[in-house]
Amino acid sequence: MANTNNTPQNDLVVDHKTPKETRYYPSELKNDLKDSGLAPRVIEETLACAWEYTRCIIPEFTNWGRYLAFVRATVICIVVEFDETLVDMSVEDRLVLGYDVDAVLDTLFGGTRANGPSNDAMSRELRCFYLMTGDKASSRRDISQLFSRYVSALASSPRAWFRLRDTDALFTEPQLELLVEVGETLYDAVAFHKHRAEGEVCNTFADAGGSGPDKEVRSRAFARCREVLWAMDAKMARSPAHRHALNFLRSFGGPVHIMMRRYRFVEDGMIVGRSETEDVVSKARQHDKLWNRVDAKKGDTARDGSGTDVDNKEPDLHYERVMEQGNRLLFSGFVDVLEKATHDRCETCVYRSSYGAEFMEEFGGVKLCLKCRQQWKTYLEGLGDRAVAAFPEITSQ
Ligand SMILES: [Zn+2]
Repeated sequence: MANTNNTPQNDLVVDHKTPKETRYYPSELKNDLKDSGLAPRVIEETLACAWEYTRCIIPEFTNWGRYLAFVRATVICIVVEFDETLVDMSVEDRLVLGYDVDAVLDTLFGGTRANGPSNDAMSRELRCFYLMTGDKASSRRDISQLFSRYVSALASSPRAWFRLRDTDALFTEPQLELLVEVGETLYDAVAFHKHRAEGEVCNTFADAGGSGPDKEVRSRAFARCREVLWAMDAKMARSPAHRHALNFLRSFGGPVHIMMRRYRFVEDGMIVGRSETEDVVSKARQHDKLWNRVDAKKGDTARDGSGTDVDNKEPDLHYERVMEQGNRLLFSGFVDVLEKATHDRCETCVYRSSYGAEFMEEFGGVKLCLKCRQQWKTYLEGLGDRAVAAFPEITSQ
């Protein structure tokens, strides 16, 4: 049932007037986004947000230029989440928000192991993230084959889900999958109501369940990940490489929501962790705090898995253009994932021709049937075994 209570549901005094509205970031960034078309207030908010993210999840650095490049890459992430018209990755040789994206990514990944002469894997990952996030924010998503296939692929299996959301090169593939799973499960558990307010298609608990009768799925998954994280930390904190990854996960998994201006956690009555209200959803539509609400297209009819909603669409030039540039825009193997996204789908799960939330308290993606949802729950419960398999050292004395 929709929550129509517009007042925060706790006894904290909610003070929307912060003592100071000054945004802080290094002077090197002061001219960034000047020609982006964004309003000055939004520019300030975006730059401060990117800086705060960076300082929270990567508190130490050895290369200031690379560090600033990370901030700028994050600026693009933040903008594309709420205004994709400014970031179209499918158009080649274009400045994005005034940034030379190739130069930013070269500075960020240049000289790292992920950036071999013929394989700029990390740049592809990031471009892919911009591309898919832009499609999610776009009004084009109603007709976008790319987005429909992406949403279908997200729901295909828990393992594919975690793979589709991140990557790196420091660890082995099973270790990486485990770290990504821990980080995203922690983050999504905290951001559950924020993401639901946004009609988000990307939240682990949109598929595994996290409210109502499934409420405990979320709290148990968070506790499991927290335990694995601390187990790894006790064993690996002395190794600088591992320590950086663990620091990243620890902040990403919770503290960012409390510390960053983006979430206004305490001022807004701890709303990130509490059930969203009509007021929060309305503000997300207006990009308050740079959030973004993905509403379903009105009148869109839900379809089951037997429908050929994507395949029946008219030729989609955007999709074709992206596929043609797969080597630049999509991470290795993603073309195949998208092409097969509509194959072998469950006939009971609800797939749609366009995605987004129709009502309060629902996510925007595929609605899994009870049987498929149970597969996700079972997968999450197996985290401990996967952790020991990927990092056997966490069990040794
Ligand atoms: Zn199903």
